[in-house]
Amino acid sequence: MATVLDTISLSEKKIQEIAKKTKEHAILHGIVMRTEELPGSSEKVQYAPFALFPSLVPRAALEKVKATQKHFNKLMHMVAYDTEFLQNCLTNVVKVDDFNKRLWDILQVVTEEGIPQPISLGLFRNDFMMDVKKGASIDLTSPASVAENIQMKQIEFNMIASSFAGLVSPLYDVHRYSLTLAGKQFEDSQVPQNNAALGLAKGLVEGWKAYGNKKACVLFLVSNPERNTLDQRRLDTEMFSCDRTVPVKYVTLKEMTERATKRISDKALVIDGCEVAVVYFRTGYTPEDYSSDKDWDTRLMIERSKAIKCPSVQYQLAGTKKVQQELCRPGAVERFIDDVDIALSIRETFAYQYSLDLGKDGDDAIQKAFDNPHQFVLKPNREGGGNNIYGDDIKPFLTKIMNSNDRSGYILMERIQPWPQKNYLIKFGLEVNLRNVISEIGIYGVYLGSSDTEIYNSLAGHLVRTKTVGTNEGGLMVGLSCLDTPFLID
Ligand code: ADP
Ligand code: MG
Repeated sequence: MATVLDTISLSEKKIQEIAKKTKEHAILHGIVMRTEELPGSSEKVQYAPFALFPSLVPRAALEKVKATQKHFNKLMHMVAYDTEFLQNCLTNVVKVDDFNKRLWDILQVVTEEGIPQPISLGLFRNDFMMDVKKGASIDLTSPASVAENIQMKQIEFNMIASSFAGLVSPLYDVHRYSLTLAGKQFEDSQVPQNNAALGLAKGLVEGWKAYGNKKACVLFLVSNPERNTLDQRRLDTEMFSCDRTVPVKYVTLKEMTERATKRISDKALVIDGCEVAVVYFRTGYTPEDYSSDKDWDTRLMIERSKAIKCPSVQYQLAGTKKVQQELCRPGAVERFIDDVDIALSIRETFAYQYSLDLGKDGDDAIQKAFDNPHQFVLKPNREGGGNNIYGDDIKPFLTKIMNSNDRSGYILMERIQPWPQKNYLIKFGLEVNLRNVISEIGIYGVYLGSSDTEIYNSLAGHLVRTKTVGTNEGGLMVGLSCLDTPFLID
């Protein structure tokens, strides 16, 4: 099985020695998170889970999705601003899904009143896996074989609270270190620099500038306790490196509910006497984030204010699994993108996805899942991991809901069988063993604009998350997957 160490063989003792030093290197670079015991405090932190060595990624495949990212950013922005398209996608979802119905209702209220802030800010992460052609055996010494057999397939496009840019940014340097300890020869360009945190921070600064009031703050809307605070904090330290004058605040939804108001005269969002330029949501993407109707009232107040939202409610809705499934239909991408080559470069990354709405097409999709459950993933319109249904669980689940409208709340997606490799995963308190692993690659992007004006559009960096083969979900915070970086091969 493929590994970056290829011909190098290391004794168990040597691996443990490399792991020990590399953990310290990771700590020195700030690849750390709060502990399970003290999730509300940074007084005690531990290294975040990471892969000891980088994972092999074909350079051309990575470059291809990076080259498409700005088009993806623009596409998703346009989808969010196309009310008719969004409505067609989500009509049946909101009938059965209370969470998305609430978001949808907020969008209706602000649309009727006149959207108070024409600009939306998106800090996106577009997730892919390296799909291997069926039956292919990859010859790593042949660029043609790699290029022909490995293709990036999109898993999902995250439009809210895209995480890990902060923690992953310094990891390329840690990997250069571990590879060197292992005696691996490489060019710097094979383990490329990656300041995703700076890329996203620039987006926040651009949003703040577009708001046009130097005294107004960028507000990080966060959960408390939050184990991943330091990932968020790296973004504001990078904002500081761009522009020291940007005021930054961290506030929970509950604190907003208690202390924030919308000024009547000009719809400014104000908390503790400070006007808010940008609300950056690192919470608010799952039903549990809203502890009461009051929190929902606060979300509505935020959307009715003239603060720039990252994301706005229409961005959040455009990021649903349902919208991504509808974009797979013939002509859907082309509704937004005239350029045939660009549309194709986006479409090429799509895996098959099926609507499960009542009717013949939905019935056919369900039959497909019954016939080959291990070739599909069943997804509800939820974010944040742990919600999908896989393999043997699909049939009993679909059987329960197949005669009701509830099935409209789910989509069926072809299961990607990603390229398996070997690596050592470093997880706090666990032994370091060689494992069979698979990786998911995230491309960060930033978009800032209104319905007819693009203000800022950028590619911001990348992330790799690696987990053991056989793990369905990718949750890093729950210890399933590990931070990783690409080792580029030609
Ligand atoms: P979430 O919003 O919960 O992150 P995702 O669509 O990203 O939802 O799915 C969660 C995880 O499930 C992914 O990180 C990936 O590991 C796995 N997964 C999702 N879709 C597929 C797929 N089509 N093929 C293989 N694995 C998938
Ligand atoms: Mg995901």
